[in-house]
Formats: sequence, structure tokens, C-alpha cells
Amino acid sequence: MPSPVLLLLRSPAARDGAPSGYDQVDPAAPVANALDLGITRGDGIFETITVIGGIPQALDAHLARLERSAAMLDLPAPDLPAWRSTVFAAVDAHTDVPEAFVKLLYSRGIEGSDAPTGWVWMQQSGDFTRERSEGIDVVLLDRGYPSTVAETSPWLLQGAKTLSYAINRAALREAKRRGADDVIFVSSDGVLLEGPTANVILKLGDRLVTPKPDLGILPGTTQHSVFDIAKLNGYATAYETLTPADLRRADAAWLVSSVRNAAPIRSVDGAPRALDAQLTASINSGLAARTT
Ligand code: PLP
Repeated sequence: MPSPVLLLLRSPAARDGAPSGYDQVDPAAPVANALDLGITRGDGIFETITVIGGIPQALDAHLARLERSAAMLDLPAPDLPAWRSTVFAAVDAHTDVPEAFVKLLYSRGIEGSDAPTGWVWMQQSGDFTRERSEGIDVVLLDRGYPSTVAETSPWLLQGAKTLSYAINRAALREAKRRGADDVIFVSSDGVLLEGPTANVILKLGDRLVTPKPDLGILPGTTQHSVFDIAKLNGYATAYETLTPADLRRADAAWLVSSVRNAAPIRSVDGAPRALDAQLTASINSGLAARTT
């Protein structure tokens, strides 16, 4: 595996007169301060961007979501041109590999300093051939919040891509304990939401349908690209309120995310469900062929 690349932004927030650019540092060296709120409180945000053939995919959408997450956490607005050029610098500094990912990490910084910290990490991706072709087993887990949570309780930050992913990782461990690969969260009022690191898409007849983004879920960049690909293939697309019954009756279903791309769902809570191998292959080749 080629060496990862680590770049520290000199000024991750948009501030007049702030130093611009980045510093490349040894990826094995300790770089974060022990009092950085990203570490001590998970108080920060991130993005993970797939890089295929040297092209950071859906970069504009990821940067827009970084800005949106920052606003939801009352973080200073990120300096998007600085983040963009640091992403390209990471790609330039990394050995050419077929698939890699770039992580953008933006934290509130050292407690009391009022200076956010930001860094960009790039490394080769794992091999997801099996998940993309054979599919994944998922379990449904109660998220414990109603589907109205984003509107009623914005301080819960549902729908922001925060560094506080301990719950998402605990849910994935619960899936493993149940003999599955992944999770789809369901709201306390029975609405289908998202996975801990992915969006869900259902094929219902000649339509591809995904849960509405106002349900307190992350608006997915991959889901958005899949809808573009689906429209080119003659499918209608829609954002709707869906339930576990819709997942069970769907002609096909996927969890979609950066890096793994589209993983077809082959069972839900142990009950097998149909795959659409042809459509899955054309979605994944469409995703890999993105040029922006
Ligand atoms: N939902 C959650 C909670 C996520 O963490 C992610 C990605 O990590 C997604 C959905 C999928 O987003 P994207 O397709 O932009 O990677």
C-alpha cells in the first residue's frame, strides 16, 4: 500500500488576512493538540471523497456539504478555495492508484483558542468488489428519534456530518453481532432513514426512490450521482417518506456511499431479498466514470 498523504491547512476558516496554503507533514507523526475539541469532544465535521483515476468525485457537492455542516455546528465558514486546492495537492502528492479516498477534517480547534483546525488525509481505498457484486446483509435498527427530529431538535445535529460517529460505529458493531454487514436506521415513528455511513435507495417499479433529506439524514453525494445516472438510464427518481415495508417489497435496494459506492442489499434482518445485478453494475460503472 502506498504511503498516505497528510496536509495541514494553515487557515481552514475563511478569514481576512489569514495565511493561506497548507503544510505537508509525515503521516505517521502526531499532529493534533491534546486539547483539540475535535479529539476531546468530537466537536467538528468531516467529508470523505472518493478519488478514482486521480479525480476527486463530486468535489463541489462535498465542499457544499462541508459548508452546510459547519453552519449547523456554528463553526466559522470554511475557506472552500483553500480546502479545494489542498484536496488537489493531496491527489498530486499521492502515488497513482485506481481508487483512493480523501478525508477532510475540520474541528473547532484547541479549547479556548477560537482557531479551528483542518487537515486533509489521502490513502488508497480497500477492495469493495465483493460488496458491490455479491451484496450485503443489513439489519434495521431503531435510531430512537422521531422523523421530525431535524425540525424539532436541531441541536441534535441530525443530518450534519459531525466527528461524533461513535454511535454510528456502535450500530455497525451491533450489525456484526447479529451476523450482518450493515445497518439501516428506522425512526421511532417507523420511517426508513439511512445507514451509519450510507444512504438507502429503493427500486420500486421503474422508479428509484430515496428517503427525503428533511428526515434528519445526511444528503448523500453518491445518492445524488446515482439519481443522475438513473435518469440517463430512463428511470424516474423521487424523494419520499419510506417504511421498512417499502424496503421489503422493493424490486432492488442499495446502500450507497463514497468509497464503497453502490452495495446491493441481499437480505434484511435475515430475510433474503432480490438483487438487480445489471442495474447495480451500471450504477457502479456510472459512479466510477464521474469526471467531476
Ligand atoms: N449518511 C451518513 C450518515 C453518512 O455518514 C454518509 C457518508 O459517510 C452517507 C449517508 C453517504 O454520503 P456520501 O454518499 O456523500 O458519501
